Amino acid sequence: MVQSSPNLHGRAQLVMDLRGKGIANRRVLEALEKVPREDFVDAPFAVEAYTDRAIPIACGQTISQPYIVAYMSDALDVGPRMRVLEIGTGSGYQAAVLAHLAGWVYSVERHRPLLDAARKRLEKLKLHNVVTRHGDGFLGWKEQAPFDRILLTAAVEEIPKALIEQLKPGGLLIAPVARPDPQNLAAESIYQYLTKIIRSEQGFIEESLIKVLFVPMVAGLPQETRHGKERLP
Ligand code: SAH
Repeated sequence: MVQSSPNLHGRAQLVMDLRGKGIANRRVLEALEKVPREDFVDAPFAVEAYTDRAIPIACGQTISQPYIVAYMSDALDVGPRMRVLEIGTGSGYQAAVLAHLAGWVYSVERHRPLLDAARKRLEKLKLHNVVTRHGDGFLGWKEQAPFDRILLTAAVEEIPKALIEQLKPGGLLIAPVARPDPQNLAAESIYQYLTKIIRSEQGFIEESLIKVLFVPMVAGLPQETRHGKERLP
């Protein structure tokens, strides 16, 4: 089916916007140009789909800002045969972008309603190299490990050990890591840094990239209500 032109126009604009903000990786820009972001947000937000902003989705979560999706996809340095694990499927948008860059994408989400909606979108786009699972991302996906690349799209205080163990030697993991703000310890304000970890022969090499703001990664599975809201204990 031929895509409607406003939608293609929006995507081309977004790619130009991202290029202007410093994203130069051609494969990543092409991947973003291929994914209709308006399909990944609720109808009232479709008009904002190609502005470079995070947008609320169900279950109190958000679809990340396109700049951050592009930045993370670039930093992850994904090759066409690689197996990538994503924690936090959310809308499925980041998984769809990764599907155009990787061999296989494995994505784990703890909210069942989000996962069901994401699966439908990925199926509609015929992105058959994305496999999803309802589960707790803190445990990774042992049966499919090891992975060339691992991407966390929810913030952690430290990188979960199970995930490090599921990374191939030579592999690379990217995660938003929350840290106390060194300039503002008294106010207990928290910074998140996108953190890159390379598993080398000699051990792990850690590098802080940019400051970010993600929803926290939450352990265990929620008790979902009919409306997809998390029930309070
Ligand atoms: N990558 C998503 C955005 C993620 S928002 C996108 O492209 O739309 C973060 C997601 O992480 C939320 O959907 C949240 O439910 C999920 N999450 C948080 N903790 C998790 C955990 N322990 N396991 C799996 N998913 C988790």
